[in-house]
Amino acid sequence: MPGEHEPMKRRSPVAETGIAADAVVARARAWLREAGRVVVFTGAGVSAESGIATFRDALTGLWARFDPQALATEAGFRADPALVWRWYAERRAAVAKARPHAGHAAIAAYEARGGRRVDVVTQNVDGLHRRAGSRNVLELHGDITRVKCLEGCGTPESIDAAFDWRGDPREPPPCPRCGAPLRPDVVWFGEFLPEAVLAEAQRAASACDAMLVVGTSALVHPAAELPMLARRGGARLIVVDPAETAIDDIADARIRAPAAVALPSLLAE
Ligand SMILES: [Zn+2]
Repeated sequence: MPGEHEPMKRRSPVAETGIAADAVVARARAWLREAGRVVVFTGAGVSAESGIATFRDALTGLWARFDPQALATEAGFRADPALVWRWYAERRAAVAKARPHAGHAAIAAYEARGGRRVDVVTQNVDGLHRRAGSRNVLELHGDITRVKCLEGCGTPESIDAAFDWRGDPREPPPCPRCGAPLRPDVVWFGEFLPEAVLAEAQRAASACDAMLVVGTSALVHPAAELPMLARRGGARLIVVDPAETAIDDIADARIRAPAAVALPSLLAE
């Protein structure tokens, strides 16, 4: 990306604990209150707080012997569709049992309050932002509760995985249009992010006044570029994560806390 290596200086010192940390939260809250356009960019840490294991962490028990390449690539699906289907059925069951937490709820309430445009850009596939009530959600990695045609034959582009197809639940259902197997509507290893969704996320990041980055190490490209776009557009960058992230150095505020702890006060009126 042009300009990616331009040096970017941290604008203000940040603190992580104690009274100084309260001051950081207060300042970040003020930015979020004043902003007319906000992007909330979320990653696996936000889902983990709802008890949803990351892909790799879910490879336990019966699944421990499988390589992610066998379960989350098109080649793996073509080699053993039933195996991959069963893996995703279990993941969907875990997602169905999970509930949005206070962090998801705070983001949705912030949007619902109005007075500004809020876009949620997420790397998560569990749909918990929508279930919490967020309306403007851009899912960079797809939605695990939906399926699409393996051969990309066209309409319908994405189908609710819970649709009643009355077949063998151990096998992927056939595409209603062309009969090819339906695959999970998620981005697998080696695949590009959905172009239109990524373009919209880039536009929102470039135009926002503040970006809140929550529960993502921000290491994976191309999603990792979104905070850079926001910074270059002059937005305040606020990072909420219990651990260090790859964008700490360019953040205006870092809050070392889980989403469910930090967001309700950060996004309060
Ligand atoms: Zn088809």
